[in-house]
Parts: sequence; structure tokens; C-alpha cells
Amino acid sequence: MKKIDLHIHTSASDGEFAPFELLNLCQELNFDIISIADHDTMKGVKKLSNHNTSLEIIPAIELSCRDGKRDIHLLGYYVDDENTPISDYLKKFREERIRRIYKIVDKLKKMGIDISAEEVFKQSSFSDSIGRPHIAKVLVKKGYAENIDDAFDKYIGYSKPAYVHKYKISLKQGIEIISASGGIPVLAHPGQYYDLEYFLFLKKQGLKGIEIWHPDNLKYAKELEEFADKNKFLKTGGSDFHGFSHNSKKDIGKILIPYDSVVALKKEKANASS
Ligand SMILES: [Zn+2]
Ligand SMILES: [Zn+2]
Repeated sequence: MKKIDLHIHTSASDGEFAPFELLNLCQELNFDIISIADHDTMKGVKKLSNHNTSLEIIPAIELSCRDGKRDIHLLGYYVDDENTPISDYLKKFREERIRRIYKIVDKLKKMGIDISAEEVFKQSSFSDSIGRPHIAKVLVKKGYAENIDDAFDKYIGYSKPAYVHKYKISLKQGIEIISASGGIPVLAHPGQYYDLEYFLFLKKQGLKGIEIWHPDNLKYAKELEEFADKNKFLKTGGSDFHGFSHNSKKDIGKILIPYDSVVALKKEKANASS
């Protein structure tokens, strides 16, 4: 039996382990196939792309999209980010993240809080996904907040005085961008927005798969599996591991994926490319 996890984060987004550390960990744990699916960046996967290992790494990404009022995560397996629509999108996304930092810092300044965007940038080195946690760190460091939660509570959390909306594409755009970049769009952790009719609607927009096995939707797994088979969705899954200091229900190794689903994923990729 092959040991598989198709949803893991590295420090390229908000994971704790750097790509090579994660690779070592997965080797120690005897994994056969993993997929690195960082939020809105492929920097982690890239770091490992030329690394010689018997462990198979399937390139992926997890895009933050918006559908009406819902925030929806979309996985893109085998997506190619060399001069494709996704490389344009990721470039734009990075610019928007930086722009957002300046906007938040401006709002904070107007509240009499003296921090600079440069101080915030210093908090993120390898991570592509500079964002509010980095601002929170500076606020704590300079004594404006007791801890990260306090910083979000007082200033930068949703609907707090220095909050600024995040740039997001629609789910439909996300599906199109992934498909046009040679990738396979899969709805991430659907337990958070469980609605079978909605999933069928998304299929018409080009969605190919559903993440069946995920810590957030284990109670739906059986039903989802039947639903996916009946409606010809690809089935994927993974731990959504971010590191051992995060939610332990997402620890690596707790969820393993049947090899069949990887075979189906590869078949879909081969069909799409031919
Ligand atoms: Zn997610
Ligand atoms: Zn994730």
C-alpha cells in the first residue's frame, strides 16, 4: 500500500516546515506520494522540483477565492506556473498583498500607531504570503498588542478599525485560471460549505474534483465519496498539515489517501494534456 497525502503546506505559505524540512519529514514517515499545496504560491514546490528523491511530489496550489459571500479554497493539481495564466495571477496577487500592507499601515498610522511597512516586510523572509500575521508580530514587538490574537482583536481583524479587504478572484475565475494553466481544479475541504447542489453547479463551471478526505469533513466522507462516484468527480484528500504546533487533527499521517485517486488524477492530467 502506498502512503499518500495530497494536501500539505510549507513555509512558502503559512506552514512551519521549510520545503526541504518537510521533504525530510515525509521521507522519515515513509510517504510514497505527497502534494505540496501552498496558499497562493508555488515557491515551495519549486524548491523541491529538481531534488532527487524516490518520493513523488505532485505540484499543486491552494487558491483563495470568493463566491458571493463565501470564501472558498480551490486546489489546483499539476498546475504549471511558467508563463501561464496562473503565473500572471500570482504576480498580481503578490502585488496586491504588498499594497494591502501599505493600506493597513496607513490606517494604523492615522490611529497614532507608529509602525512602518518596511518593519512588516522584515518579518517575512522566505514566505511569499506576507499578510496580517506579520503586521501583528510588529504590533506585539512594539508593545501595541499583547499577542497576535490581541493585535487582530484590537486593530487588524475583520471589521476592526485597521482592517482592509483582501484581493480575491471569484471561484469561477479560479477554476478557469487553473484549467488554463494545465491544472486540475478541486474543491478544498468542502465540509466548510457543504451543499451537494452547489457542487454540481460548480461542475458545470469546470470543477473536476472534490477533496473527500480532509480533517474538516470526515463526517461527510462516506456520503461525499458516493456523491463523487455517481457524478464523476475526481476524489482527493490530505491532512492540510501546517506543522505540529497547529491543530493536531491536521497532523501529517492522520489521513491517508487511496492510491486509486492518484491514478485517476494522473489519468485526468494525461487526457487534459493530449
Ligand atoms: Zn484551505
Ligand atoms: Zn490547505
